[in-house]
Amino acid sequence: MKSPDTQKNNVDSEAITGMLKRIIAENGRDHVWGYAIAIICLILVALSTAYIAYIMKWVIDKAFVDRNLIDAWLICGSIFAVFVARGFAGYFQSVILSKIGNNIIARYQRRIYSHLMTLSVGFFSEARSAQLAAQISQNVSGIRDVMNLTITSTARDLLTFVSLVGVMIFQDPVLSIAFVVIAPPLFLALRYISKRLRSATREAIVLNSHVLGAMQETIQGISIVKAFTMENELESKINKLITAAEHRQNRIARLSERNGPLMESVAGFVIASLFAYAAYRSINDSVSPGVFFSFATSLLLAYDPARRLAKLQVQLERAVVNARMIYELLDMEPRQRDLPDAKPLVVTQARIEFRGVGFAYGSDAVLDDVSFVAEGGQTTALVGPSGAGKSTVINLIPRFHDPKEGSIFIDGQDIRQITKQSLRQHLAYVSQQPYLFEGTIRDNIRYGRPDATNAEIEEAARHAYAHDFIMAQPQGYDTPVGENGVTLSGGQRQRLSIARALVRNAPILLLDEATSALDTESEAAVQKALDEAMSGRTVVVIAHRLSTVVRAEKIVVMQNGRVVEEGNHETLAEADNGLYARLNNLQRPVASGNSRK
Ligand code: ADP
Repeated sequence: MKSPDTQKNNVDSEAITGMLKRIIAENGRDHVWGYAIAIICLILVALSTAYIAYIMKWVIDKAFVDRNLIDAWLICGSIFAVFVARGFAGYFQSVILSKIGNNIIARYQRRIYSHLMTLSVGFFSEARSAQLAAQISQNVSGIRDVMNLTITSTARDLLTFVSLVGVMIFQDPVLSIAFVVIAPPLFLALRYISKRLRSATREAIVLNSHVLGAMQETIQGISIVKAFTMENELESKINKLITAAEHRQNRIARLSERNGPLMESVAGFVIASLFAYAAYRSINDSVSPGVFFSFATSLLLAYDPARRLAKLQVQLERAVVNARMIYELLDMEPRQRDLPDAKPLVVTQARIEFRGVGFAYGSDAVLDDVSFVAEGGQTTALVGPSGAGKSTVINLIPRFHDPKEGSIFIDGQDIRQITKQSLRQHLAYVSQQPYLFEGTIRDNIRYGRPDATNAEIEEAARHAYAHDFIMAQPQGYDTPVGENGVTLSGGQRQRLSIARALVRNAPILLLDEATSALDTESEAAVQKALDEAMSGRTVVVIAHRLSTVVRAEKIVVMQNGRVVEEGNHETLAEADNGLYARLNNLQRPVASGNSRK
């Protein structure tokens, strides 16, 4: 999600109505029956409230004026019955609406998750992942709130209010007119407050997600934070953010509660005037006390729904602002769709060819006229200084990004013309930082190929020299790993990710060798696992180990986004003044100890 811009702060009422329509149309359709029952229950609640106000006239007149005990008892019986009905109707509508609300949240979470999967890798490197996650969880509830607020306030509050006003007019039309005069200025005052609340709410959401994002970044990068003793700077940065968010929240509280004193004062005035008028009419015109009692009850009962209706716009806007962010995300077009006539990839030799490939992440060119061939079944090592564009080359093969110029072919097929899914099915990728997902060891290997049998998983683990340490774990293959699981060493994690690539059994292996030093034993195990993974496949490897480079059939030397030399270890090492020869000389003394660049 992009950072908010000023234009988004001006959520005009047209946009709000548009968003409301969309939310109601999308969700209303799927829950028609649930909402219908909830609305019936809400209507029952509203009508029974009005009935209670109306019947007060009869209670008072029968019991205290006519002194008719039987009638009074009958009326009281009906009041009891109506309260019971109102209780049940209230219960059912609340349970139904909560159920639908939870379902809405679940469905949007699923929708967002699967939508995120369709967005290109480029989106995720632009978006701040921590901020994104925080915003999503905060904003999905906006959609539920829009639905529930709309339903409860129209079906219950508005109807209750209207029927109570009906009772009031029925009992004393003159008095009722007085209220019609008071209402409009009150409404205008509330509108003014709600306008200011809107922009404050949006700012608060953005600030909060900055705070959460900054915290998550610190947690993820804690070793860097400590190593560079960045604690103080980060702390003062986050302190500023937290203070800003706190002040914004205070402002929201002030603004949204500003309705309170206003409404209370008006209510006090209205009730006091009512009783003064009632006393006057009872003394002068001898109007029955039941009429006033019923009128007063209606008025008191109307206060609550009126207050909720007054707050409705504010709440609805807050919910719509939240929901809007969700829709901004959902409306984002996946950037690389398959072409309409895309075909599945047919692999014969798994020969990869880069032909005149140019690429830029933004405006700065990162690759310039890169051409080379990775022959089928052979290992091609990419070497060169950091920033030369080696990772970018690797990332173009699974189409994480598309080249800006030139093309990439696999067995003569332009990868832009084939479906992304079939392309990626023929690729296995082992990254520098082995990533383990929430789940068991078995699950993590199986992500390589979901239909792999347990036997195949074990075989892959053996080939990746991982079986023994897996069996030593408390629950063997069923030991949970990931964020909440057991802690594995760097070498063990690498071997698991190699097992994941092996079980995939793809003809092409993309490999970013780890630069981080492992202890000698792990290093040897990882190396053996890699040898196993590389044999018989087309391998494109970002090589950091001299041994890998020496054994590669082809070496592609890159510098500043261009291919500067090509050959094998013998020919390149001999070349006078070549970049590889220089790198090789630099590396030699190190390579014998710990093969790092
Ligand atoms: P290498 O793997 O050889 O170190 P990379 O392919 O990672 O090189 O990077 C090549 C250039 O592209 C570098 O200048 C790097 O800063 C830039 N770069 C890499 N990834 C991104 C990205 N996601 N967005 C913007 N620039 C990037």
